[in-house]
Amino acid sequence: MQNTSQSGTRIAHIGIAVRGLDDSVSFYRDVLGLADVPLDDADGAKIVGLAAGTSLVELLEAESPDSPIAKFVAKRGPGIHHVCFSVDDLDATLDRCRAAGVRLIDETPRVGAEGKRIAFLHPSSTSGVLVELTEH
Ligand code: ZN
Repeated sequence: MQNTSQSGTRIAHIGIAVRGLDDSVSFYRDVLGLADVPLDDADGAKIVGLAAGTSLVELLEAESPDSPIAKFVAKRGPGIHHVCFSVDDLDATLDRCRAAGVRLIDETPRVGAEGKRIAFLHPSSTSGVLVELTEH
């Protein structure tokens, strides 16, 4: 259900690992009709951002063979790499994660592709999904 008050946790974006942006973007942009959103490259990945309502789809292509996306694609093939949830208070959410014993990849937030503070959680604590947290 859509939250119209802009508060509460929601999906900010879904990161999809691709072999090549040029081959991958046409389905999302031309067939589904998602609009381009300019994003900075991050974490050794070239990123194409596409708006799907208030959420984004981020297509992630590795910039080098030793980048996290390259390793992911080599091991598992292209596909959903991570889901990013936007929360009201990132620091408070990370505190709750720590208290719950959730394994953190980023102990302290850093700046991500959208210019917002982010932190990743380990898939071993999240039912196998690499979870990124950001805030509104
Ligand atoms: Zn992300």
